Amino acid sequence: MKVLKFGGTSVGSVKSILSLKKIVENEAKHQPVVVVVSALGGITDKLIATSKLALKHDDGWKTEFDDMVDRHHKMIDTIITDTKKREDLFNTVDALFEQLRSIYFGVYLIHDLSEKSQDAIVSYGERLSSNIVATLIGGAKWYDARNFIKTERKNGKHVLDNELTNKLVLDTFDNLPRVSLVPGFISRDRDTDETTNLGRGGSDYTAAILAAVLDAEVLEIWTDVDGFMTADPRIIKTAYTINELSYIEAMELCNFGAKVIYPPTIYPVCIKNIPIRVKNTFNPENPGTIIKQEVEDNRKPIKGISSIGGTALITVTGLSMVGVIGVNRRIFSKLAAHGISVFMVSQASSENSTSIGVREQDVAAAVEVLNDEFAAEIEDGAMFPMHAECGLATIAIVGENMKHAAGIAGKLFGTLGRSGISVIACAQGASETNISFVVKAEFLRKSLNVLHDSFFLSEYKVLNLFICGVGTVGGKLIEQIKKQYEELKERNRLKLNVVGIASSRNAIFNRDGLDLENFHDELKRSEPSTPERLRDAVINMNIFNSVFVDCTASKDIAMLYQSFLEHNISVVAANKIAASSDYDSYLRLKTTALARGVKFRFETNVGAGLPIIGTINDLRNSGDKILKIEAVLSGTLNFIFNEISADVPFSETVLRAKEQGYSEPDPRIDLSGTDVVRKLVILSREAGYKVEQADVEKHLFVPDEYFEGSLEDFWERLPRLNADFEKRRKQLEAEGKRWRFVATMEGGKTNVALKAVDRNHPFYNLEGSNNIVLLTTDRYKAYPMQIQGYGAGAGVTAAGVFANIMSIANI
Ligand code: ADP
Ligand code: ASP
Ligand code: MG
Repeated sequence: MKVLKFGGTSVGSVKSILSLKKIVENEAKHQPVVVVVSALGGITDKLIATSKLALKHDDGWKTEFDDMVDRHHKMIDTIITDTKKREDLFNTVDALFEQLRSIYFGVYLIHDLSEKSQDAIVSYGERLSSNIVATLIGGAKWYDARNFIKTERKNGKHVLDNELTNKLVLDTFDNLPRVSLVPGFISRDRDTDETTNLGRGGSDYTAAILAAVLDAEVLEIWTDVDGFMTADPRIIKTAYTINELSYIEAMELCNFGAKVIYPPTIYPVCIKNIPIRVKNTFNPENPGTIIKQEVEDNRKPIKGISSIGGTALITVTGLSMVGVIGVNRRIFSKLAAHGISVFMVSQASSENSTSIGVREQDVAAAVEVLNDEFAAEIEDGAMFPMHAECGLATIAIVGENMKHAAGIAGKLFGTLGRSGISVIACAQGASETNISFVVKAEFLRKSLNVLHDSFFLSEYKVLNLFICGVGTVGGKLIEQIKKQYEELKERNRLKLNVVGIASSRNAIFNRDGLDLENFHDELKRSEPSTPERLRDAVINMNIFNSVFVDCTASKDIAMLYQSFLEHNISVVAANKIAASSDYDSYLRLKTTALARGVKFRFETNVGAGLPIIGTINDLRNSGDKILKIEAVLSGTLNFIFNEISADVPFSETVLRAKEQGYSEPDPRIDLSGTDVVRKLVILSREAGYKVEQADVEKHLFVPDEYFEGSLEDFWERLPRLNADFEKRRKQLEAEGKRWRFVATMEGGKTNVALKAVDRNHPFYNLEGSNNIVLLTTDRYKAYPMQIQGYGAGAGVTAAGVFANIMSIANI
């Protein structure tokens, strides 16, 4: 025989309940089946909520109650087609509802909701659903579980009376019908005969008890997901079904919050060696998960991750505890006697403190009990009063193969550390099947994500991007990401998830990834943003593996990097302001990134997509020393000096540079040499020299007064320079030379200057907006290393930013 348990969602809708019927009838062809059902999805919660309304004397309870009646009636009307059967069922169901209404009314009238009344109320969910299913399945026999599932009262809780239950189950199912229909969850107190239950989620337990006593071939748990998954699929979108789990693994995961199976369920079937299969009522073809003694799927050391929110840590500490025998015994026996369950214990070897993980709702009672127990020790100063920390979450990684694999804890804590998550307490049992640790509740989701990513996502690695700036570079970058998305997913097993996009005015976020087709409209419609709001939103999103990508030229945005890095968010900047700001800030950004294990990358600050900074870093890392840098670093200026001719005057070349997107939005930044100075400062710093912008000697070609006043004034005045430029240009042409605006660094001394180079110089033939860099190093002395190519343009800059992002993804 088999026991099949169907959860709330499996009986919650017409579609699922009809699927249930098919599954059961199919199974019953082969052997007798015992079917255990939960209440219709959401009904138990609603029964409780309605009782609370009645207790508060809120008339709203009646509407809630009518809703429940209506839902059951509608369900019956749709699924039971036989008129006679339907009528009988309506009679049964309405009789139950009448009783329930009376109980609610009683609660309403006398303002009292005892535990007894509450237990009576919640029992109706399963009593109703099981009658409906029993009518739906032809020939099914309905049983009242309260007649054989018996509880007794221990430490203020209802616990199963095993012996009596076993006997009664055997008696009841002496002669198994083809289909037996049993309401899950509900039970009866062996002494008082009052209706009780096995705790929330207890239908699984009812099914396991029946499976164990009746020696079922298998216990099948039918639910709304494809089996036991690597993590809670509501939090981890990439969680996937585990094919096989051992009982121990399943138990560890369930104990730590994997809601898919109610924890006490596993033990009764485990000792009888009855396998559990977890299957999806909505997708019965899927094989689901098998839980059994020995598992063959032995490859992964970690099988799953689970967690419980709303946990608290109580620290019992004091000097007298060192070496004292019996403190732990007193702690645990007292807590147990008060029905407080402890799910994690951590004690340092110095023995002067023990941390105990309990549920938040138990913390006040636990503190009181322990303060009471150790009152004498606290009084004489040998121990401190109990300290409780709330607002925590406990996470466990579970897998029997951990005991054969070294370095799991290292990987676990390393991964958390790199994500800026600090661990408050941790514990690993000697059985090595579980490592549990406590973090602040706000880090729960992030912890689960990073751990899932690092232990399971052999499938895909996810990088979460915030893109700031949707102008030419940002816009192109988003286009490139959109275009490459599938390819990177396929080829690199990488998902680039754009979780935030900000313009200068607005910002939008979505932790599941924004729609890159339609983000413009969404952005326009969104709330106005400011850099501070953007910073807070990005940090508060607290998302794992995240990169802030700055495609703006804004100082205010550059000022945010430090906070981002401190919150373990990598930064990729096309914006040069941060790396060229004062040396101390630059250094702080770099050291913060290093300390936090994240990246601060800004390759496109110099030479757009050309690999200049990366090359300098590679040379230095391999022990080379950069002696001299000579470079044409302004695509704009090179474009201008290549365009200038007898027909195209100077002012016209500047305009063209602007129109063709080579120049900065404000071309004065290029003409004043500011842009080149910034780039030279960045290169020099990366080459190992402490250089500030003010240290750079400047030999400019546009008089200073042109940089004063507004941008309009500048454009208006610019043509006044044309005549002088043309005179000088003619002379240059006659000498067979060309102008290049050259940035030089030698031994830490820096300058920028307009130079005339002859045809033998490597800079002479530099086309269009190209850049060139000559690196003279210890190893490249006689023949400097030369890097040359497009040094400006949105497409190549975006590609350089993209390459920086990829370099982070590939770590
Ligand atoms: P039922 O009503 O069928 O008993 P539950 O809601 O009690 O269903 O349990 C199934 C739910 O458990 C799933 O819908 C899923 O959201 C949640 N869940 C949490 N952790 C896991 C996990 N590790 N694997 C599968 N489901 C999980
Ligand atoms: N209906 C009960 C609950 O919601 C029992 C169960 O579904 O297992 O907790
Ligand atoms: Mg359940």
